[in-house]
Amino acid sequence: MKHSDVSFDTACIHAGQAPDKLYGGVSVPIFQSSTFAFADADTGAARFSGKDNGFKYTRIGNPTTAVLENCVAELENGKAALATATGMSAISTVFMTFLGAGKHAISTGSVYGPTRTLLEKELTRFGVKSTFVDSSNPANIEAALTPETALIYLETPANPTLSITDIKAAAKIAKKAGCVLVVDNTFCSPMLQKPLDLGADIVLHSMTKFLNGHSDVVAGILVAKDPALIKKMHGVLCQMGGTIDPHQAWLVLRGVKTLAMRVKFAQENAKKLAPELEKHPKIEWVKYPGLKSHPQYELAQKQMSGPGAMISFEVKGGVTAGKKVMDSVQLCTLAVSLGGIESLIQHPASMTHASMGPEARKQADITDGLVRLSVGCEEYEDIKKDLWQALDKI
Ligand SMILES: *Cc1c(COP(=O)(O)O)cnc(C)c1O
Repeated sequence: MKHSDVSFDTACIHAGQAPDKLYGGVSVPIFQSSTFAFADADTGAARFSGKDNGFKYTRIGNPTTAVLENCVAELENGKAALATATGMSAISTVFMTFLGAGKHAISTGSVYGPTRTLLEKELTRFGVKSTFVDSSNPANIEAALTPETALIYLETPANPTLSITDIKAAAKIAKKAGCVLVVDNTFCSPMLQKPLDLGADIVLHSMTKFLNGHSDVVAGILVAKDPALIKKMHGVLCQMGGTIDPHQAWLVLRGVKTLAMRVKFAQENAKKLAPELEKHPKIEWVKYPGLKSHPQYELAQKQMSGPGAMISFEVKGGVTAGKKVMDSVQLCTLAVSLGGIESLIQHPASMTHASMGPEARKQADITDGLVRLSVGCEEYEDIKKDLWQALDKI
């Protein structure tokens, strides 16, 4: 059954899966095996030469992982996928595949902190150059192009500013310049945004977040419409070694089954919460793609099928007041990460985006007082009551 034949919600439960052939187990078996026996020496040789595509060693491929890859590829309207040990492993695999000495990358300025640090502090040691721009204005991407540009990297909505980039416009620029367009779709999940349909070459996720959704696994994935791109990245990942473990892959597969339900529920909470927060006397500003006050509200309406469950805000009184709120919540958990079933609250400048340094944060518009809230699936009134009592403590 293909996703094109059923609704997205149904595909989350079934895509890429069928009862197991041996015993009819409804849940996908976990092939917790590092290596796979060959019937004879010739079969082993055929598997390594690529004539036989059977499994040989889990760093190179595993049956449980393959089910997860087929599932997420379908949900993203892609043709092939490559699961990885973490989201950062997916990101580093993309960079190691398409960048190299003398090559140049253009990236959204306000990206997940370690993504920026990887480009800015690690890959520069290997002769890779990168430019960070406010990609919410596509003209900034175009202006940063050089003859060496090999990759354009977007995060939209961006972490943690929630600013939005026009993926279609960026795809046009990438195509004309002959470079690969990569989109980190972690904040939306395939439920709310399909970058491949908008012209991106590669979409990636930290499956740690919405796809798994239960704050109990770290994992990542890369998806493309062109299987050759995945094959190329698979070649690099096999040597780099950031492979997902089959048990971890199975946990994500289980999490994905409730993706649609979770995202809908959390998004409904966020849609109610954002306007109420905006009206609260102790709040300076709120940024949420579903609010008319969001600078790219119209684009969000066009590009995403819903505004999602991530809200950024600043409390009047900046860092000190923001810290008081984070220290006073009792239901929302003070922790990094996002997209879990539970509401999570954190302070990017001192936590997820601390490694970027103050200058990069300033350039990326990440203010010191910004508080990031990942709205979970608790009952709405309980979340609101908790936040309001915390705001009262200021
Ligand atoms: C968490 C996150 C990552 C990194 O993923 P890990 O699974 O922690 O390695 C990358 N991009 C975004 C947007 C994230 O939120």
